[in-house]
Amino acid sequence: MFVKTALEMNRGKLDQCRLKQMQLYETQSRNKQEIRPSSGEIYRFYCCGPTVYGPAHIGNFRTFVVQDTFRRVLELSGQPTCHVRNLTDVDDKTIRDSQAGGKTLGEFTQFWTLKFHQDCEALNLLPPHHEPSAVGHIPQQIALIEELMEKGHAYRSEDGSVYYRVSSFPQYGRLSHLDEREITTSSAAATAVSADEYEKDALADFALWKGRKPEDGDNYWDSPWGQGRPGWHLECSAMCREYLGDTFDLHSGGVDLIFPHHENEIAQSEAATGKPFALHWFHITHLLVDGHKMSKSLGNLYTLEQLKEKGHTAEEVRYVLISGLYRQPLNFTLQSLDDAGRAIQRLVKFEAALRQAAGEEVTGLDYESLKGLEDKGSFGGAFNALLDDLNTPDALGKMFSALKEVNPASLSPEDAARELKGFHLILEALGLKLPALPEQAEAPEEVKALAEERWKAKQEKNWAAADAARDALASLGWEVKDGREGYELCHKD
Ligand code: AMP
Ligand code: ZN
Repeated sequence: MFVKTALEMNRGKLDQCRLKQMQLYETQSRNKQEIRPSSGEIYRFYCCGPTVYGPAHIGNFRTFVVQDTFRRVLELSGQPTCHVRNLTDVDDKTIRDSQAGGKTLGEFTQFWTLKFHQDCEALNLLPPHHEPSAVGHIPQQIALIEELMEKGHAYRSEDGSVYYRVSSFPQYGRLSHLDEREITTSSAAATAVSADEYEKDALADFALWKGRKPEDGDNYWDSPWGQGRPGWHLECSAMCREYLGDTFDLHSGGVDLIFPHHENEIAQSEAATGKPFALHWFHITHLLVDGHKMSKSLGNLYTLEQLKEKGHTAEEVRYVLISGLYRQPLNFTLQSLDDAGRAIQRLVKFEAALRQAAGEEVTGLDYESLKGLEDKGSFGGAFNALLDDLNTPDALGKMFSALKEVNPASLSPEDAARELKGFHLILEALGLKLPALPEQAEAPEEVKALAEERWKAKQEKNWAAADAARDALASLGWEVKDGREGYELCHKD
């Protein structure tokens, strides 16, 4: 009798649900759209980066990790990218805090940039292809303001600041679906005024150039309108243009940036160039902590370093940050990190078993070698979930289903090697780096078999059998800790 291998059966399933191209929800059209480069071979995208005045928090990292996952999925599906993410290294906060710390703006922002890069590396974020900073692009920003002045979209105020005249750009509000009344009365517009915009004609107008103030200290540049510094929104328009051209494929940030930041970027860029700016807007919903918005006053604003001090790993943090769909709020708890730790341990054990079944020759399954991999074996469904609007929770669910279906011990070395490639592909797409298998935790075969039996019984809701297996394990000196995705086997000392 001919028996199909698990791999062959899954390939059949895969063909039915294969997606040709990645799809992603688009903020302005409110529809899913195909992700294809608008011109040439390379998909070009821009992500608003951090303001480097302190450590980035895990909310910021939700956004950066999701953007990184997006890039990984595209590249691993065979689509080369050009990823630009800026550094905001001059604004009210960087100036204020560098002065308070007795540092120059450059010393201060370099320190926090380095810290940001260390966190990015720990969270396995691919470095962007370009990481321009606002201070490094003052001439480009001045040139953009000059163009806007010439075309009648900007005006100079008494104090030497330059403002964008929002009424000169009738499409303003298109991205955020706000009408004129909402734009001028919204709290975001009001906040922008109270923050640092002084002498403008209309509430919705925003600063392109901020005239020098005594509290700016040495942080000013010469311009045709006098000494001062660029406004925050301007840097992104200027750097998009410098690295990606007038029109490019996608622009991204957290949802808080839709209005006014991204709306202002569109107004600046399209008024200057007369061409469409970003063709696809990709926004990530905010991370909550214990059900609340993160804030310093609530004491729930975690950094990666604080979580490491509590004994958690960067891999666990990344796992939690991708455990929810990017379009929905994600609630972060310390419990979710514990669960992530157990899920990761299951992945580690599965990988070790697959490697063993595949034999020695399986090496070099790194990010580069997995690009464009056609045969994803049992993990094709998980990868397809990512192609469909970057559904990371569905991909994780499908990956763990495949883990249950695939029994490494029953595979031929060839099948095991193929499954291992598919498994590595999905891990690379999710950016999950697996820690080494803990050496001392290796349980005897009898114990492993009992634990598997118990897990299976639990899945089948056969509680009596599950309890009996747990008791048997306890009598052998072992206990199991359950998580949502699996269990961890520990020796009782
Ligand atoms: P910032 O350094 O404040 O400019 O923020 C860097 C990025 O993090 C931006 O894309 C923000 O929209 C995003 N962001 C800020 N807070 C959160 C949060 N709680 N959850 C997800 N993303 C956030
Ligand atoms: Zn920006």
